[in-house]
Amino acid sequence: MAKLLRGFRDLFEEEAQKLTTVEKAARSVFKIYGAKELRLPTLELKEIFIKATGQTTDIVQKEMYAFEDGGGRLVAMRPEGTPGVARAYIENNFQENPLQKFFYIGNMFRAERPQAGRYREFEQIGLEYIGNASPAADAEVILMLKAIFDKLGVKNYKVKINSIGCKECRPKFREDLIKFFTAQKDSLCEKCQTRLEVNPLRVLDCKIDGPKFTQSAPKQILCPACQKHFDEVKKYLDGKVPFEVDPCLVRGLDYYTKTVFEFQADIAGAQNALAAGGRYDDLIASMGGPKVPAVGWALGAERVALASSFEEQKSKTIFVVSVEESANNYAFNILQTLREKGLSAQGGLFDKNLKAQMKQANKINASYAIIVGGNEVSKNTAVLKDLTSGEQKELSLNDLLANLEGK
Ligand code: AMP
Repeated sequence: MAKLLRGFRDLFEEEAQKLTTVEKAARSVFKIYGAKELRLPTLELKEIFIKATGQTTDIVQKEMYAFEDGGGRLVAMRPEGTPGVARAYIENNFQENPLQKFFYIGNMFRAERPQAGRYREFEQIGLEYIGNASPAADAEVILMLKAIFDKLGVKNYKVKINSIGCKECRPKFREDLIKFFTAQKDSLCEKCQTRLEVNPLRVLDCKIDGPKFTQSAPKQILCPACQKHFDEVKKYLDGKVPFEVDPCLVRGLDYYTKTVFEFQADIAGAQNALAAGGRYDDLIASMGGPKVPAVGWALGAERVALASSFEEQKSKTIFVVSVEESANNYAFNILQTLREKGLSAQGGLFDKNLKAQMKQANKINASYAIIVGGNEVSKNTAVLKDLTSGEQKELSLNDLLANLEGK
């Protein structure tokens, strides 16, 4: 039997439309902020994700769809966009023009346990601002996300920010955490017991263990440069978007430095992280590229659509009906003219009788029907029927078009 894979979905009109609306809102914000589109391949060398996303992350350890291709290369379906953007940046020699603001829209793949708002194939819209080390860039990308959320009418979202330091100050924090959690290893969940040594920061944002240790866990002591950076990010954001500093926000990916942030909202029964990101000043160099700072984020289009309160603009559809074979060509020409004028028009079911054609017009919720037969052909007219009020009138073709264009 033909059967869908678990965690994968077919998205029909209504759901697909919601994603398109989220994409449109994002695109309009990207335009204002000068971000340029980058379309990336779905498949990359697995190595790219191991290097960038990080060997110790859940994504790389167990969630990637990775396989050996026909040429014996180890490849992976992209689980996220940033490694691909970094790879593209390096390969295309942006040294001449290091300041780049890219956005991407595309599907990502993660073999996670499916649940509401968590799928194995999902859409991310991402933004990467490369080449600006200033805290103003961190604030700018956060404000772009806010602009998208506001456009879509996402209500009651929270913005959480934190700084996880840099190569100078993070190792000490890591050590402190390992020491602290090792002393109480027995009270950690199974997952955290195993990741304690490799990725102790993750214990802090574990759904089970995180809340237990929010108060007592050692706090990150930032080096003066990271502290200054973080203070300035907060200053830039002040008064522009409400935010909370959450010392337990650490993010699951390895490449972040300094600022990390997450946009959260309660969606009934679903995951609450709508978008997340941070600064990654060392990533591009660590992948063999130039030493260039960067900051970015990705939003989950499905979750943002779930949290949005936009009203769909339903376009009015006109349904063209022919009641006689001798009028079919005339009706077909009307149908095409309407479409060429940019009106949403359907019909062409000319092998069916009037009743069946009208039934279809009602089924698709058409606003108007245009009905023609031999009589109308000879007079160069058509009958326009308002399917809401039931009213109908015969009009010349010119009047008909003028009438409909204004609707
Ligand atoms: P991440 O790349 O893990 O930082 O995720 C960024 C955003 O992508 C999250 O805030 C979610 O909105 C979305 N996302 C991540 N994983 C999934 C998933 N499995 N299903 C749906 N959305 C997801």
